[in-house]
Amino acid sequence: MRKKVLSGTRPTGDLHIGHLIGALSNWVKLQEDYDAYYFVADIHSFTNNLSTDKKNYYYSIVKDMLAAGLDPERSTIFVQSEVPEHAELATYLSMATPLSWVERCPTFKDAIRDLKAKGVVTRDSRGQDSKAGDEVQENVVSVGLLSYPILMTSDIVLYDADFVPVGKDQMAHLEISREIVRRFNHLFGETFVEPEGLLTKFPLLLGPDRRKMSKSYGNCIALNDEADVINKKVMSMITDPEKIRKDDPGHPEICNVFTYHKIFGTPELDRISAECASGELGCVACKRNCAQTLSKILSEHQEKRNDLSDEEIRRILDRGREKAREAASAKMDKVKKNMGLII
Ligand code: ATP
Ligand code: MG
Repeated sequence: MRKKVLSGTRPTGDLHIGHLIGALSNWVKLQEDYDAYYFVADIHSFTNNLSTDKKNYYYSIVKDMLAAGLDPERSTIFVQSEVPEHAELATYLSMATPLSWVERCPTFKDAIRDLKAKGVVTRDSRGQDSKAGDEVQENVVSVGLLSYPILMTSDIVLYDADFVPVGKDQMAHLEISREIVRRFNHLFGETFVEPEGLLTKFPLLLGPDRRKMSKSYGNCIALNDEADVINKKVMSMITDPEKIRKDDPGHPEICNVFTYHKIFGTPELDRISAECASGELGCVACKRNCAQTLSKILSEHQEKRNDLSDEEIRRILDRGREKAREAASAKMDKVKKNMGLII
């Protein structure tokens, strides 16, 4: 029996270059040797984004997955909310999860801080648009946000995934998943496989502002950005703070632009590094070169993307839903049996 991998992404925006190197590149390789499940994590998207206008992202995300090389014949590609067992199992898992485990999750605290930061627009419980950070901020932190790691555990264990390829930001959640599995198995007998996280070579890409590149932070270079947009974003990148004038000696090892050169394969890396350090190469020329590298990679990606229609994506998701539901419902039977529920 082949081992299984599973991973997902939230429809909170278009995919970005952090996804390409932190997630998709790994997903594509893994589908060769594993039974692979990849999904649009739409229920998760509501933890910090109550917008009801996400439909286009579903299609855009799946197009990016396919353009990056996912093969729907080999990978099961589906939408989380179309497999109701995800939410169902999360309810059962929540019974076996101590509150303190989710409360102490470091990303829960980070998420609250982000939500309260200015500019995060959400909707309060009366359905009115409001800004997190103003007087309705208490309504913004939902139970769903707190229990995010439980739903994530459900996503994984429903398919007995052995490995979960994720970026660095998700590793803390995965640790909680492993603990929940151990506790559930201890309480109700061997039911789930304990999953392991898999990081890529580049598990955390920073955006032009040096924060983690994130759909929700508005600091992304999206996979469907055009060359002029890429150029503008790269030009805004924060570089070595000690290289103020063009001919000041720079420190490529701490510069985000140089990291991009390395990751995305700009030619003549050694020359760029030496000329930056000696002061021959200024940041403007260096960034222009970086923008060209990205534009080339992304224009090839976009060519593949543009060949895909929404109808084709819908058909792929329909097939994925059927395959996912088959596995998920069999697993739910086992869960209910082990918990002593009538089936
Ligand atoms: P959001 O802001 O809505 O959380 P996101 O950009 O963080 O969006 P997710 O859908 O949460 O994207 O993440 C999908 C996968 O991509 C996860 O495995 C995550 O760890 C990985 N990932 C996201 N951002 C990066 C990044 N900047 N570098 C590397 N991997 C990333
Ligand atoms: Mg995220």
